Amino acid sequence: MKIVVLKFGGTSVGTAERIKKVANIIVGYVKKKFRVIVVSSAMSGVTNNLIKKSRNICDNFKSSEYDVLVAAGEQMSCALIAGRLNHMGYKSQSWMSWQIPILTEGQHRSSRISNINKGKILNYLKSGGIPVITGFQGINNNNRITTLGRGGSDASAIMCAKFFKAKKCVIFTDVEGVYTTDPSNLKNAKKIKVISYEEMLEMASLGAKVMQPHSIQDARLNRIEIEVKSSFINRKGTLITKRKNIFRNRTITGLTSTKNDAKVTLVGVKDRPGVAASVFKPLSKNQINVDMVVQTSSSNNRETDITFTIKLEDLSKTLRLIRQNKKIKYRDLIVNKNVSKISIIGVGMVTTPGVTYRMFQTLADKGINILVIATSEIKISVLINKKNINKAISALHKEFKLNR
Ligand code: ADP
Ligand code: ASP
Ligand code: MG
Repeated sequence: MKIVVLKFGGTSVGTAERIKKVANIIVGYVKKKFRVIVVSSAMSGVTNNLIKKSRNICDNFKSSEYDVLVAAGEQMSCALIAGRLNHMGYKSQSWMSWQIPILTEGQHRSSRISNINKGKILNYLKSGGIPVITGFQGINNNNRITTLGRGGSDASAIMCAKFFKAKKCVIFTDVEGVYTTDPSNLKNAKKIKVISYEEMLEMASLGAKVMQPHSIQDARLNRIEIEVKSSFINRKGTLITKRKNIFRNRTITGLTSTKNDAKVTLVGVKDRPGVAASVFKPLSKNQINVDMVVQTSSSNNRETDITFTIKLEDLSKTLRLIRQNKKIKYRDLIVNKNVSKISIIGVGMVTTPGVTYRMFQTLADKGINILVIATSEIKISVLINKKNINKAISALHKEFKLNR
């Protein structure tokens, strides 16, 4: 069987009109003799609304109930797609993850798919049916519904491609592919034709919302090639590939920014072994992901400052944990919610000297102050004031010739 997995994101199934278009795309693949497995997200806005409802009920909505609630969005869109395909004369049926089942491991809200039971879906495909599978959700070994983290339908599609040995995995979204930077931030962002898992993983982890980071890890691990393309216009998209020898005449492949970060500084912490561990231990126990960290070197060997960034949504919990922490003493606790992390990503920087300097100089020329720096082999990230995001993106995009 020549199987293809087609995943549709929230905007692609956002209205009845959009769902009719999506059904036409699916039928196009059926006519090309593919056996099609459809994976769908919730209609755009639905998941956010459900999350809002949980917050209106209480501050500490249990994560197992959160998963049951937010998984509901995908149920609606899948039934609507199957309904439209039926209307067009095709055999199609929606499948909730528990009906297959799609098995997951890990915690509620951020589970990962560990196995997919293939039998029922394969039989349905063989009988000429088009299964429409809910993205974003699975069940754990207690038979409870789990979800895969925001944007998790991408991971559902990639894992379906793996387990059903699909020839192709196509991610349909509201942009034409992966761009050099978020096209909604910068008009002259350019579509990237081919990108390696490594660069895509950095871009996704550093804020390029177009693909969920875990989904790229899954793709890399299982060598699943992905095409990202628009469900609005039929144009060639971006290939995310295992190939490493991708020719590029540029040092930098892409640039990303984040919106919802917060910076926390503990001023005047004792400069002794174990202090940083005491600060971060309760955060890690509470699943708070600490991102950038700097510790200033102390001038008197007695005191130092520790600065780190976290997601804005974790800020109040983080502050509560720090204030409750009897193991650490500090003189002051400073919080800055107006920060954004800007990153440049590209394998080209491994062999090209001077990239860091060019990035810093470009920002300096625009009068943009750098608050924190973090680097890895193929990325450089800086924390800046949020009000400078657009200025920084546009200057760096130009400096690294990404619009050519
Ligand atoms: P879907 O609902 O289809 O999963 P998402 O909203 O999750 O779509 O992702 C698509 C969005 O990602 C685009 O509308 C775009 O604004 C944003 N985006 C951020 N960075 C990039 C990038 N580098 N390339 C393309 N899109 C990006
Ligand atoms: N509907 C889920 C979300 O909004 C999953 C997805 O869109 O991929 O996060
Ligand atoms: Mg998405």
